Amino acid sequence: MKHVKSVELKEEVRRIHQHNAHMAAEVVRLCEREGFGFVIYAAANEWRRRDPVGAHTVGPCAVFTEPCDCKRGRSCDKCHGCGWQFKRVAKKRA
Ligand SMILES: [Zn+2]
Repeated sequence: MKHVKSVELKEEVRRIHQHNAHMAAEVVRLCEREGFGFVIYAAANEWRRRDPVGAHTVGPCAVFTEPCDCKRGRSCDKCHGCGWQFKRVAKKRA
């Protein structure tokens, strides 16, 4: 009986991996067609619309930000505690 469950579990895991690989390939095709940034932006917006409290969020493109060395947390007027700041803001407030 235990062996049967093990075989069933392995088959279920294999099926899930196969499904995930298929879905990931679909997402990559969409990203290559529409742009990775746009897909992430659109997905985050839709998720936030559906679940304003628990949605996963994304931030600006890394090329526009840099680490903030303030160590001031939420009181920092450059990063407001997230540890990243916009390069344009950093130049203006330097
Ligand atoms: Zn800061």
